[in-house]
Formats: sequence, structure tokens, C-alpha cells
Amino acid sequence: MTQRALVAGGGGFIGGHLAAELLGTGVDVTVADIKPEDQWYQRHPGARNLVLDLEDPAASQEALAEADVVYNLACNMGGMGFIENNRALCMNSVLINTNLLKQAQQQGVQKYFYASSACIYPDYRQGETDLVALKESDAYPAMPEDGYGWEKLFSERLCRHYLEDFGMQVRVFRFHNVYGPFGTWDGGREKAPAAICRKIIEAERNGSYEIEVWGDGEQTRSFMYIDDCITGIDKLIASDYPEPLNLGRSELVSINQLVDLVSEISGIEVKRNHNLSAPQGVRGRNSDNTLIREVLGWEPGIDLRTGLTHTYRWIREQYLARESGEKVVG
Ligand code: NAD
Repeated sequence: MTQRALVAGGGGFIGGHLAAELLGTGVDVTVADIKPEDQWYQRHPGARNLVLDLEDPAASQEALAEADVVYNLACNMGGMGFIENNRALCMNSVLINTNLLKQAQQQGVQKYFYASSACIYPDYRQGETDLVALKESDAYPAMPEDGYGWEKLFSERLCRHYLEDFGMQVRVFRFHNVYGPFGTWDGGREKAPAAICRKIIEAERNGSYEIEVWGDGEQTRSFMYIDDCITGIDKLIASDYPEPLNLGRSELVSINQLVDLVSEISGIEVKRNHNLSAPQGVRGRNSDNTLIREVLGWEPGIDLRTGLTHTYRWIREQYLARESGEKVVG
């Protein structure tokens, strides 16, 4: 029998790629997102596409109607600039996961995937640039990113209790920064890789050859290309592992190194103006992949240069298309 999947938040970056992949393997896909369809990064004609606010229980019921598997990627989120200034909005997304889990349990959904985040890890473990990579057990004692991180941690726990109390087959990934084409690259919700690509393109187009870098640029992160993210979700859903797992690269780079790399890829040299009062998040964050290697026999493998080359090209195409008056989704 054809499997039926709901991709909640499928008008967004990761959900759009996931829906494409599921459709390609013959799954009957419903995509639900709050944004009008002309603002979805990818719109798949082969899917049942619904514009719904999943914070509303009735809308969640409508979205879930016939699903066997639910992928919850719907969340009101963005990069540091958004999550540090919109904590209440971020926390409201708890309603989405609560509605979907409750409805999924009532209608006997087979598997439920929840997209958590490395922002659930405590601030006190991320105060250095050359930190020890975060392993899953480091989540407690809890002190996550205020707002967004608390919402993610609460939602993870709700998934755990649906497993314990109702036997719901839950699967949870803690994504570490995901980047790639068909994602946010302008407007205030974009994350560092896309923001840096756009700023460098902008600096060339306006002739200033200068960009603003948030903080001193020595803060460190790891970045995972979207194709690895989708492969990981497929592998986790096929596994029988119900606990939260890291999904991220373990290649640590500073934001300054990220700028160097985009400069090399683009062939554009820029002067960097460091804005020390801009949002920066934690000082350092990396993914310990010991557990994912044990559980899935796999970890994300696409290197940053390869992934950023694809991403830079796509953002440049979008930038130039917008400049010439075309409507593009940022
Ligand atoms: P995204 O913003 O591109 O996609 C999320 C989608 O959810 C958006 O299209 C948005 O319109 C939709 N949405 C928000 N509120 C909704 C509502 N009330 N009803 C229906 N849809 C709603 O983000 P993304 O990068 O694709 O992230 C997907 C998931 O992965 C999110 O849960 C996010 O927190 C998590 N995550 C992402 C990253 C990353 O680096 N991209 C890192 C950690 C965790």
C-alpha cells in the first residue's frame, strides 16, 4: 500500500526538500504550511498542498487526515537575529507539535518525526570557541537558548511521553545549522551561510566591497548541507531509535573562516566590519557524532566547500533575478 506522509512546514526550507524526496520515492505526500503558496520555497504539484495555521487544532486535524507518517518541520523560526528578538513567537510553535502529536495519536499514526535543534543544549557548555563537541546526554541539566530552545526541548519531551504513555513511534533529530538552496537568504530570518553569501554578492553589486559581520567572527559552528539532512531523516525514520539524536557535521569553523570560504568560492574580496553588538548566540557549538554513527552507521559527510558552492550559486541566481525585477522567494 502507498505510504501517506504529512510534511508540516513543507513550504519552508527543509520541509520543501523532504517533500521532494518523499514524492520521488512514491510516497503520497500532503504538505501543510501557514505561508501563502506563492511564498513556498518549493511547491510540488504532485503533493496535496494546504495553507493552514497548524497552531489551530482544527487545522492540524485537517492536515493529518489520512497520514501514516508525520514529519513535523513547522516552526516560527530563523537565525539568531530572529530568535533572540521573537521569543514569544518561537515558543508559540509548541502548539503545533502538541496539536499534531495529539491528533496523530488519536488516529493511530505509525511514525512521528520531530525536528528539534542544537539550541536545546545548555549555554553553560557553549562558552568557548574551541569547545568539546556536544553529545546527546549534555542536554541536561537544562539551560537551553531562551525562547526557541525551550520550545524545542519541551516538544522533544512531549514526544518522549507520547512514546512512554501511548507507544507512539517517535523519531527526533537535533539539527545543527542546515544550509543549502531553496532556503531563506534575505529578510531577517536567514542564517549565517546564506547571509554571508548574500552580503558578499550585495557588496560586489553595489561596489562597496564591504560587509558587516556579526560579532568578532571568532564564534564557531558546524554547518550541514541539506542533502545530508534529508538522508539522515530517511535513515532515522527507517530505524527503531526513539531518543533524540544529533544531526550535524563535526567540521568546526569560525564565522571568519566561513567568510573566507565564501570569498574564495565567489572570487570576491571584501572588507569586514565587525558589529560587536549584533546577535551572536553561543560562543561555540559542534556536534558529537559518536551516537549517530553507532545507531545509524552513518553521519553527514558533505564538506562545507562543496555545499557552500551549490548554495552560493543558487543565492546569486536568486539575487540577480530579483535585481532584474523577477519575483523570487527570499
Ligand atoms: P523554515 O522557516 O524554512 O520552515 C519552517 C516552516 O514552518 C515555514 O515555511 C513556516 O511558514 C512554517 N510554519 C511556521 N508556523 C507555522 C504554523 N503555525 N502552521 C503551519 N506552518 C508553519 O525552517 P527550516 O530551516 O526548514 O526548519 C525546519 C525545522 O527544522 C524547524 O522546526 C526548525 O526549528 C528546525 N531546525 C532547523 C535548523 C536549520 O538550520 N535550518 C536548525 C535546527 C532546527
